[in-house]
Amino acid sequence: MSKNAIVIALDGPSASGKGTCGRYLARKLGFRFVDTGAMYRTLTWHCLRTGVDITDPARVLATIRNWGAELKVEEGDVRLLVEGYHPAAEIRSDEISNTVAKVSPIAGVRVWMVRTQRECLAFGDLVMDGRDIGTHVFPETPFKFFLTASDEVRARRRKAEGSKDNTAERDRRDASRTVAPLEPARDAVLVDNSHESPTVTAEFMLAHFQSRRQVLGL
Ligand code: C5P
Repeated sequence: MSKNAIVIALDGPSASGKGTCGRYLARKLGFRFVDTGAMYRTLTWHCLRTGVDITDPARVLATIRNWGAELKVEEGDVRLLVEGYHPAAEIRSDEISNTVAKVSPIAGVRVWMVRTQRECLAFGDLVMDGRDIGTHVFPETPFKFFLTASDEVRARRRKAEGSKDNTAERDRRDASRTVAPLEPARDAVLVDNSHESPTVTAEFMLAHFQSRRQVLGL
């Protein structure tokens, strides 16, 4: 890891509260927040809009080699822009939610993503949310959380957002893929927030982080 930068790795299944809690943590600590799911969604969106067949890994890889993507800090978040544009609303569509888990298992895609996510260190201390941050992107960080909530609670959260995202199917794909499957790092702190508010959950994580940071003298 680069000199003094701190990374809080925040993994877990879809609708487990990673985004809300992660952003809260980042704002409280003055760290940058990185939503790596948004990066996989942005690539999926880009492929679909440019007519790239996402079932053909060679085509997807040819695209990612030269797709005009760059990292930029906007509103406290490190974002991936394509040709200068961040497709914030577009990547939340049901179409993208229900296709992204077909793009994310492609090994070469993950190599590109991990490299790009590590480049985010150039922007300073980070809270990074994803599926493989503690296991593959920053396995060396001593600050790792794995956030969960029951299937029922997560499905209810997505429904309340008016989303038709098939989270169960997406999680099944994410957890069963060969490359970097969704799983907790051995040294991650498991947090089940099925019956807690995002604020209580994030405050717990904040307190845990602060005490560990003090113990480690970082
Ligand atoms: O976090 P979000 O639900 O937006 O992630 C969308 C998808 O991107 C996940 O279902 C997964 O397929 C992929 N993803 C991944 N690795 C990450 C982050 C997201 O494979 N670190």
